[in-house]
Amino acid sequence: MRLSLVTQILIAFILAILFGAIFGEGMFVVEPLGDLFLRLIQFIIVPLVLASLIVGVTSLGSGKQMLRLGGKTVGYFLVTSFIAVTIGLAMGFLFNPGEVADIDEPTEEEVDEELEDAEEEDDDIIDVILNIVPENPIQGMAEAEILQVIFFALALGIGILLVGERAAPVKNFFDALAEIMFKITGGIMKVAPLGVFGILAPVVGEHGLAVLMPLFVVILALAVGCLLHILFIYGGTVRLLGKISPLRFFKGMTPAFLFAFSSASSAATIPLSMKNVQENVGVSNKTSSFIIPFGSTINMDGTALYNGVAVLFIAQFYGVQLSFLEIGTVMIVATLAAIGTAGVPGAGLIMLTITLTAVGLPLEGVALVAAIDRILDMIRTGTNILGDSAAAVYVERSEYKDKAFQSKTNETS
Ligand code: ASP
Repeated sequence: MRLSLVTQILIAFILAILFGAIFGEGMFVVEPLGDLFLRLIQFIIVPLVLASLIVGVTSLGSGKQMLRLGGKTVGYFLVTSFIAVTIGLAMGFLFNPGEVADIDEPTEEEVDEELEDAEEEDDDIIDVILNIVPENPIQGMAEAEILQVIFFALALGIGILLVGERAAPVKNFFDALAEIMFKITGGIMKVAPLGVFGILAPVVGEHGLAVLMPLFVVILALAVGCLLHILFIYGGTVRLLGKISPLRFFKGMTPAFLFAFSSASSAATIPLSMKNVQENVGVSNKTSSFIIPFGSTINMDGTALYNGVAVLFIAQFYGVQLSFLEIGTVMIVATLAAIGTAGVPGAGLIMLTITLTAVGLPLEGVALVAAIDRILDMIRTGTNILGDSAAAVYVERSEYKDKAFQSKTNETS
């Protein structure tokens, strides 16, 4: 009997939770399996993003269409991130986690340990923007700086369009390279269920109920907020703007969601997201090859929502009353902090310091949530990647109207 990839990943997911809960830290034995899978993904990301984005740009055919597509995408990202922070704050008011949670103040050592990473991350916003332009594109690729790879791919793609006929061999080369990369991605995805098991079982084993219980209400507030955001904002986008069935969208994106949840990395989910959104949801290669890598790097609604919840949690814990002005500041700064968050595990916790600093809350707060950050990270990353695919659905419909969603769909994978 052949099970579809969705079913296989779902089974691996459930088994990982069961095994993790039963065998606890003993599940560390399967960690190399997860690491192996993550390495396979890392190995494919840079050439996959480069080649498919060049193909995406060259098939757009005009700079005007690219600007329009970019404008819509960034606009959508900003609006949804802003809504996400707002929902996060609402959850913070509703659940009152800072008063309900049963925890002590963090010790000085715990605080120092957490803030060490945060200090290294002290780039200001200008540097973050400047850093999109690689000093050396090969170095950008070597270090897997996705925004730099995107920049290089856009420049190459536009160059190919401007040169025209003479650039045809280069265009054909990247067309073929993209095909090859999709084939390899398909091969890697066949072992995704093993990867999910290898990544998730040790995480569940390490975070037993004893670690999670005291901060359960923080987890609950984030989970409910993300669920609402997913159902209403993404469901609404897909239904009203994309005019396709939310069921097709959610079902099609399930493998990517489960993988993002398990790995807590948007960047590592890029190959699977691209595959799902093209094959199961029917978004064209042109749209998805641009939006998925770009969104996975800058669009983080789950992280934005988490900022809202965490800020209120920390304020309540330390008995600080935030004014209206401060709430407004949180909305703007958290949106920007989420954009600056890298798509790797734990990045959101570090970037939270930016939002805390903006309203003068104690940075010690970071140490309060650190113990459960992995669980929060899983929830926010699952949300993050769905946001990128919802954006792809919206842009696909608005660019191609009746011709949208005509790519070959393949419900089984
Ligand atoms: N891990 C998240 C992601 O990859 C970022 C975060 O920590 O919030 O999307």
